[in-house]
Amino acid sequence: MSEGKKRILILGGGFAGVECMRKLESYFMNDTDIEIVLVSEDNFLLFTPMLPQVASGMIETRHVVIPIRTLCKKTIFYEAQIKNIDPYGKIVTLTGTNERRGISLHYDFLVLALGSQTNFFGIDKMEERAYSMKTLNDAVVLRNRIIDTLEQAENESDPILKKSLLTLVIVGGGFAGIETAGELNDFVQDARKYYPNIKKEDIRVIVLEAASFILPGFNEKLARFTLEKLTQHGIEVKLGKKLSSFSGSEVIIEDVVDPNKTPASQPVIESIQTRTLVWTAGITPVDIIKKSVFKTNRGGIVVNEFLEAPDFPEVFAIGDCCYLLNPQTNRPYPPTAQSAEAGAKIAAYNLQAIIKNKQKRKFEFSSRGQMAIIGKRSAIATIFGLHLHGFVAWWIWRTVYLSKIPRLDKRVRIFLDWTIDLLFDRDISRLKIFRRELPVEYKELDEVDDVW
Ligand SMILES: Cc1cc2nc3c(=O)[nH]c(=O)nc-3n(C[C@H](O)[C@H](O)[C@H](O)COP(=O)(O)OP(=O)(O)OC[C@H]3O[C@@H](n4cnc5c(N)ncnc54)[C@H](O)[C@@H]3O)c2cc1C
Repeated sequence: MSEGKKRILILGGGFAGVECMRKLESYFMNDTDIEIVLVSEDNFLLFTPMLPQVASGMIETRHVVIPIRTLCKKTIFYEAQIKNIDPYGKIVTLTGTNERRGISLHYDFLVLALGSQTNFFGIDKMEERAYSMKTLNDAVVLRNRIIDTLEQAENESDPILKKSLLTLVIVGGGFAGIETAGELNDFVQDARKYYPNIKKEDIRVIVLEAASFILPGFNEKLARFTLEKLTQHGIEVKLGKKLSSFSGSEVIIEDVVDPNKTPASQPVIESIQTRTLVWTAGITPVDIIKKSVFKTNRGGIVVNEFLEAPDFPEVFAIGDCCYLLNPQTNRPYPPTAQSAEAGAKIAAYNLQAIIKNKQKRKFEFSSRGQMAIIGKRSAIATIFGLHLHGFVAWWIWRTVYLSKIPRLDKRVRIFLDWTIDLLFDRDISRLKIFRRELPVEYKELDEVDDVW
């Protein structure tokens, strides 16, 4: 890189990283002294709000991802996994494989936007046995699993095994859990017509939630409406229940006991026979962030109101991987796409302010509204202070989220998928795709690292 040229390196190609890249491009489009580089392990931006619809087969897998290169106007993109971040030497190392040398990238400014991963809270073997709903791979694997259970149950003569195959347990009554339960319930009930030996009442979809309510952060009335609707749709929602273990065929749950209550009550222990458990009960920042030298709280990089890591003023952290308290609520900002994008805009603004010697801006965020789909063409939405539910909210959900997809071709494809879903049955073909293998790292090749 030539003398005087500055490199801004963005790590992570999710909502935060991509929005930050787009804003930086708008500030520095014609500035040849500024180079923008983005590194992410996938070469696409995943539109997570529609992930449950990929699991249910309503939307075709590739339609919810937007190739990052199609959004880059000036940015240099690397599809690679980040191996190490050295803020003292200002160097980020990318993992080497048998096909790619593990190169190192020097930076002048760094934006950390590496997001989060599923949090299994250290429950024994949960990561191995449960299905999750965080990545595109998760959605495809889960969809195949659901079809597989229908295929097996259809010809199963042992009634106990058949029942357990047709019982789906979803842990977590937040956004992802409720939307996944609604979508998958619709899918199995629709698919049933091709499985004559499976009756409506054979299928159980159960949501477990440790709190006494679902959808935290939503208006109480809407959360109650959702509970009623889910029950009407045949979904069992068990509140105040926490999972103790999952053996792969049996879930043990127990009541959440209030320790301050006297006389102390004994938790009721219950067992559910199931072969499929979907874990959506929590997220935590990705390991590379948790293990980094940056100061962290609950795994997220602690940032100041300008979104800078205090000990490293050239480093910004945004989205799910950062930790900042909202001064109004005294709680961390919620891990949502909305707040990730808002943070990305401020980080990009502050970067150009530093480079151009201007005043920086503080991060202030208040949610513009919240929406969730709950199955059977029903949704809930809080938008501009209005609390809506049912078909109207469902229609708004679709319109708003469709408009947020950054490319027209993907918008059209999703719109067509939705239209086709209104007219035809869901596809029940099972693709034999297996769980992701861990990438093999080639240490020898790292020895010939390029410092770029
Ligand atoms: C099923 C589901 C539904 C959701 N629905 C909504 C919703 O309706 N509304 C809403 O506001 N939010 C929703 N969210 C939350 C939202 O998706 C996240 O808050 C948002 O994605 C956070 O953005 P981010 O950029 O911080 O992280 P991410 O979008 O997770 O992006 C992180 C990026 O970093 C990359 N990365 C991570 N580790 C490495 C590494 N070591 N090397 C290279 N690259 C790496 C990842 O591949 C990814 O591209 C939902 C989430 C899920 C899972």
